[in-house]
Amino acid sequence: MPSDQLISALSADTEGMRHLRRVPPRRSAHTDWPEWVPEEVRRALADNGIVQLWPHQAEAATRAYEGGDVVVATGTASGKSLAYLLPVLTEAANGSEGRSLYLAPTKALAADQARAVGEFDAPGLIPAIVDGDTPYEHRRWAQRFANLVFSNPDLVHHSILPRHRFWRSFLSNLKYVVVDECHIYRGVFGAHVALTLRRLLRLAEHYGSSPTVIAASATAADPAASLSTLTGRPAAQVTVDASPSPGASIALWEPETYEIEGEPQKASTLSETARMLAQLTRRGIRTLAFVPSRRGAEIVAAEARSRLGADPKADRIAAYRAGYLREHRRDLEADLREGRLLGVATTNALELGIDVTGLDAVILCGYPGRLASFWQQVGRAGRGETEALAIMLAKDDPLDTYLVHHPEAIFDKPVEASVCDPSNPYVLAGHLCLAAEELPLRESDLDKIPGSREVAEQLCEQKLLRRRPGGRYYWVGSERPEVTLRGSGPMGVDIAETSTGRLIGTVDAAASHRLVHRGALYLHQGESYVVDELDLDDGIALVHAAKPPWTTSAQEITHLEILSTREHREMGEVTMCLGEVEVTSAVISYQRRRIPGGEVIDTQALDLPPQTLKTVAVWWTVAPEAMPGISDLPGALHAAEHASIGLLPLIATCDRWDIGGLSTAAHPDTELPTVFVYDGHPGGAGFAEQAFRKWTDWLGATKGAIEACECKAGCPSCIQSPKCGNGNEPLDKTGSVRILDLVLAADDGEPPVVLHAATPVPAATEADEDLWPGDF
Ligand SMILES: [Zn+2]
Ligand SMILES: [Zn+2]
Repeated sequence: MPSDQLISALSADTEGMRHLRRVPPRRSAHTDWPEWVPEEVRRALADNGIVQLWPHQAEAATRAYEGGDVVVATGTASGKSLAYLLPVLTEAANGSEGRSLYLAPTKALAADQARAVGEFDAPGLIPAIVDGDTPYEHRRWAQRFANLVFSNPDLVHHSILPRHRFWRSFLSNLKYVVVDECHIYRGVFGAHVALTLRRLLRLAEHYGSSPTVIAASATAADPAASLSTLTGRPAAQVTVDASPSPGASIALWEPETYEIEGEPQKASTLSETARMLAQLTRRGIRTLAFVPSRRGAEIVAAEARSRLGADPKADRIAAYRAGYLREHRRDLEADLREGRLLGVATTNALELGIDVTGLDAVILCGYPGRLASFWQQVGRAGRGETEALAIMLAKDDPLDTYLVHHPEAIFDKPVEASVCDPSNPYVLAGHLCLAAEELPLRESDLDKIPGSREVAEQLCEQKLLRRRPGGRYYWVGSERPEVTLRGSGPMGVDIAETSTGRLIGTVDAAASHRLVHRGALYLHQGESYVVDELDLDDGIALVHAAKPPWTTSAQEITHLEILSTREHREMGEVTMCLGEVEVTSAVISYQRRRIPGGEVIDTQALDLPPQTLKTVAVWWTVAPEAMPGISDLPGALHAAEHASIGLLPLIATCDRWDIGGLSTAAHPDTELPTVFVYDGHPGGAGFAEQAFRKWTDWLGATKGAIEACECKAGCPSCIQSPKCGNGNEPLDKTGSVRILDLVLAADDGEPPVVLHAATPVPAATEADEDLWPGDF
């Protein structure tokens, strides 16, 4: 069915559609097989229908075959895997000793790739999956015999590198390291993976090999530079996509607005997503809906199912997310691939290259936070001849509202580069310890990472490393330091049924206080459960199935202490600072709210221990005498804080859940009205720093968004925040614009004063909500 008809089917008068962009179809170009690919490999591929190559595949494969690191960064479904498979299969077919290591950011993707490769009858190839589920004997077998190992960076970090002596023959013959979906490795997580890869390459070199790195990435700015950051070595890039595409219609949509007591109200984005998912499924259109939270994915699937009522297609709608058991996820993937499922509401867990061909449409429940993710999600639809349909529904927040009214900010802007900083001392310290434990550090190892010598010296002072005459650093700590690549890890808290002990899912430790506290309503695959008990010591939440007429929301209190100021700008009555802070927060109670309606039924106290976070913050203060006319100062500051958190993703590649904020009319450390915005990751993740560097752009856009909003006293599109621990009280819309005006007017264009450099603390974590590898 053409997209136009689909779009009008979604809404009688397409009232909510703000913009429609057509991406024209692209014709493919073909090229000959590179002459170095042996006949047996061509035959094996031809048996699977691959008889021709696109130029980008041949170019990237040949560069790798010739020994140069290369990244191929083209669209979804452009056959990137062939770029690495050609050299890997050739190595195996030639009967050489060379071995290859394939790394994916998730276990599901590695399994999917292994499944696809298993379909080739490739001569000489001995593939094996090695992940956290692989039994010991299979690992031993893979160490000795496999010449293509499918794994993930977490397993390299936690298992291969610490036990490198067992992997000696594998490492000494390592010929290719494949880094798939490498754009995922950004921010703090990216820095961890970069240092893990460098540790891997260092040990490979120690054992006498010099592997070539072949990477695949979504479309991104400067992919070669991103790969170089990950490996510390030069790399080439291939970015011209020669695969065919049927084209797409991409609609930007705002949920319908209706008035309550003169105030415009928007329909919930989740409900709109469910409505569209149900309508498309009813027509037999295979649709994926991307929903930003696990809980949201559950709600959308359940609501879409119930909208279809007795229609048998209702049974062909499901939710998909991390936290499900492994077997369950594999079943869902197969059902989706083979068309048994028609509509799936998913978190970003399905954003990556898991093969789900044959989708007609995607719905984005809100802007996914980055253009790279936006295009990746949009690209999941339309692999056949028919034009694909993609719809982005704006969430009720300042950024999404801004974007649907400024489509040029999506369609005419280059995709952001995936940036990470392996010299981040917070991350580096732990990896230097691990590297030294694996094999003493040489001066030349430290030369490769700026700032690493200073960090190594500090580790010596902490008696973790010792520098011996001759310049080598030895690990002298007592226990191998704990470094996790993705934060608290997937093995946070198990959720199990009280009566039977049946395991239902998992939730990570940091989020468990909010999601599975005693009394919380927890949703799983459309079923709802009430939590009987949260046992943090044992890492388990016990639940029972129930369908109460209410939902729950956790209430949090937050306390913030300034540890040190790194840089500041003093501009008369306004001061802008960047520095280290300690944030202590505690979930103290929860409210039960009636369904539907949302009125508060009651508030129940909770007794959970506080969680602390040492991180980096940007903060600004204004002298009270500069704002005599503002009656509700706390409300004005609070409103400015919320809106500025909402707009930060415009200048830093984060989403609002990566950052937190706090505002107060008198902070004990500054003794002034102060607004803090901090990175939600231990050790910081660079977002607050970007806000500090571009503070006029940031606060200028914030002020613009508040002013442009048509509401009277504030709404979720401008100053209300979905994650406010204070129930969005107090808020003052007009006051916030006046304060921001004042702050912006103070800009004197002078550079900041640097008080001290970043101080290393061996801790750091970050993770995308759902891009866990499972339990690696
Ligand atoms: Zn508003
Ligand atoms: Zn708030």
